[in-house]
Amino acid sequence: MARVLYPGSFDPITKGHMNVIDQASELFDEVVVAVLGNSSKKQGFFTLEERCEIIKEIYKNVSNVIVICDNGATVDIAQKYGCLAIIRGLRGISDYDYEVQMAQINKDISNGSVNTICLFADKEYQYISSSVVREVFGLGKEIDSYVEPTVKKRMLCKKNNVK
Ligand code: ADP
Repeated sequence: MARVLYPGSFDPITKGHMNVIDQASELFDEVVVAVLGNSSKKQGFFTLEERCEIIKEIYKNVSNVIVICDNGATVDIAQKYGCLAIIRGLRGISDYDYEVQMAQINKDISNGSVNTICLFADKEYQYISSSVVREVFGLGKEIDSYVEPTVKKRMLCKKNNVK
């Protein structure tokens, strides 16, 4: 069975991430979406648990998408969940250098056992990033084109301190 790991911060999950997840779930038997803490990024908009809950809610009816929250090295998580490769999304040349470097490091530190597969979001989703969503939302503008209604609802609740 071909299971892959799609790691990221997903703060919040966007239609760009979702397009990558949808492609991966058609190509592979199972996709493990891993919400990972990143010590170099400062405090996020959502907590890791909240991000995980939101993604679980969105994919609750998709049987081959599994959502987890973890921390540690991505290669260790890939091995822990029996994933044959890491999926990454490429938005453009700005992502490329970083992703090549990470792919090589991850292959190295896993003794050659964990490969990286890059996918491209369809063109209408390619420019979307979580940071742009947070910024547009912070300016009080509409984010409907970038995120699912569930995400927008949770962002509004968080902003207004509603549980
Ligand atoms: P970011 O905070 O930069 O949006 P994440 O860590 O949440 O990124 O992203 C996880 C993965 O999804 C990364 O490989 C990232 O490049 C990819 N990704 C994010 N948005 C898109 C998009 N619109 N199209 C393709 N890949 C994307």
